[in-house]
Amino acid sequence: MSRLKIYIYDDPILRQVARPVEKITDKIRRLAADMIETMYDARGVGLAANQVGELVRVVTVDTAWSEKRNSKPAARNPLVLINPEILEESAEDESASEGCLSLPEIEGDVWRSLKIRFRYQDLDGNAHEEEATGLKARCIQHETDHLNGILFIDRMAPESRIELAGQLSRLREKFKATVG
Ligand SMILES: [Zn+2]
Repeated sequence: MSRLKIYIYDDPILRQVARPVEKITDKIRRLAADMIETMYDARGVGLAANQVGELVRVVTVDTAWSEKRNSKPAARNPLVLINPEILEESAEDESASEGCLSLPEIEGDVWRSLKIRFRYQDLDGNAHEEEATGLKARCIQHETDHLNGILFIDRMAPESRIELAGQLSRLREKFKATVG
């Protein structure tokens, strides 16, 4: 396994739509393993393939780990979602602070459904349909957005985005500087 480079705002890949995984090949399995390592290494609760430069519908999530991350030892139980799809979102929603590994140091409140029903395939190609609530539901909504080129800042209230405008433009400048 190896740690992958995390693409930072506003790299265009973060705005592209990832394509479905048609066949779970060794390459996909390796990508998922590397994404898990990268996610833990960066102390994230979720990661989408766009964020590591691959436009395929693969997401890794481990919100339990995050909840426990201040206690030791932290148990790791990563979930790999291939072709995740949100089937239902509860009308009941909640605003909570979010961050993103592709937008370092940016945090802001985002409204998300409290409960979702979603389906995905695992690395063996088995289909699953499950429900998630709370932080896990929030994380899956955030990561599925990534696969569609949507960032959490897009879902923030306009006034929160205005507050972050300075930080966002600094990130953009930094990105431009690295790509020349
Ligand atoms: Zn993110």
